Amino acid sequence: MVAVMLDGDLFTAQAKAKVLRPHQVRALKMIRQSAGKGNRRIVCTMPTGAGKTVLAAKLIENALAKGNRAIFTAPAISLIGQTVAAFEAEGIRDTGVMQANHPRTNASARVQVASVQTLARRDIPDASLVIVDECHIRSQAIDDLMAERPDVFFIGLSATPWAKGMGLRWQDLVVPVTIGDLITDGFLSRFTAYAPNVPDLSGVKVRAGEYVESGLADVMGQAALMGSVVQTWLEKGEDRPTLCFAVNRAHAADLQAEFERHGIAAGYVDAMSDRLERDLINLRFRTGDIRVICSVRTMTTGVDLPVSCIIDAAPTRSEMLHVQKIGRGLRVNPGTEDCLILDHAGNSLRLGLVTDINRGDLDTTAPGEKAKREAKAEKLPKPCVSCGTLHVGRVCPNCGHERRPVAGVESADGDLVEITGKRAAPTKACKQGFWSMALWLDRERNKGGKLAKGLYMSRFGVWPCGLRDVPMQPDRAFLSYEKSRRVAYAKRRAKERGR
Ligand SMILES: [Zn+2]
Repeated sequence: MVAVMLDGDLFTAQAKAKVLRPHQVRALKMIRQSAGKGNRRIVCTMPTGAGKTVLAAKLIENALAKGNRAIFTAPAISLIGQTVAAFEAEGIRDTGVMQANHPRTNASARVQVASVQTLARRDIPDASLVIVDECHIRSQAIDDLMAERPDVFFIGLSATPWAKGMGLRWQDLVVPVTIGDLITDGFLSRFTAYAPNVPDLSGVKVRAGEYVESGLADVMGQAALMGSVVQTWLEKGEDRPTLCFAVNRAHAADLQAEFERHGIAAGYVDAMSDRLERDLINLRFRTGDIRVICSVRTMTTGVDLPVSCIIDAAPTRSEMLHVQKIGRGLRVNPGTEDCLILDHAGNSLRLGLVTDINRGDLDTTAPGEKAKREAKAEKLPKPCVSCGTLHVGRVCPNCGHERRPVAGVESADGDLVEITGKRAAPTKACKQGFWSMALWLDRERNKGGKLAKGLYMSRFGVWPCGLRDVPMQPDRAFLSYEKSRRVAYAKRRAKERGR
């Protein structure tokens, strides 16, 4: 019996290739069409979560079926193992790894997986197809290989192929699917974004197109702003599993401390954290033992955690970084149907919502030349005056509030000026739920109704009326809100005492 269980065929059957999704089929078709026009170096962009490994596996499978060999390159050695495993899961078994002392070294395998670093130091085997993962990261080894082998097909994969000068090395960009498409089709999470504060970055220097880190740290590390990050999360965060991006390591550690100070279990991870440390934090995050992981802005790839809230406290001028960070919250996880984005960095206002950042072609700026295009989405969002949700267009997707232009008045930059509208009325069920939870807490703390009424007033601006007095155990969102009120109260008191 045991022998049968371990039989190789059994595993082969388990590792049956997945059925391609429509956008993956479209990607193959678009790549084929581009190749038909004579292109040999083609970038295919797919958002994170679109299944680009499956696409890569299909491209390789097609090459193998025609008797060809293929090379797949990853941007880091640490990604090799998972790539080989993913290909095996797709039914590609004839795979060797190009890396010294790797147990999977097999020069005769028709598919070779390599990091770009290893590629630079080795004799590269013949192949008619080279797939370059994360091709927005420039690599001299790839550039050299392209120059040496003009007839080989290079397929670049990237969620953000917007690096300066990419169009000088790659010939074509195909865009089979966008973040917006994937959200509509349910492959990525819907999201709601808020800009609780917009930092004043006018004094921060810009070097090589990006804000200088020290200047950012000064602005973003101000006590008021740090406090606002935690306060906003308490008010809006609903106790969601959260990833918080900071400017640098010190800032990330400070934010972690700020969360901890408010009794919220938070972890800290950066590129220097070792594997064990990282695994432990990830585990504690998955079990709900910690709710927030503070990290630095470079920590944007590689980790695959069930996140449903992104706090962005690291301003950037790079669309790539912006989309990569937000993308970390858009994976569909069981138990969370949407993602909350608390953008304290002003990135969404400055660069656009990630659904509005789409590029149809590659950048062709030559080295040393100034960027031809200012990074900016076609449409920039504005906060809804009623609920604060960032959105483009007239009607707020969150509360339905309609932006109404003041008749005939336009601001200097051509945008319509908003007038304040009425706040969308909360539903009766929402009020009843809140009241019931407030009653429960009031009873727990023996406050004789005073606490419940006060909380209700602070939340809805009116006294409870026409509701049933049925206590209900509070959920995390309610407790989070209640805590935010206590923190705000303590702050007010401290300020008053200080006067
Ligand atoms: Zn709204």
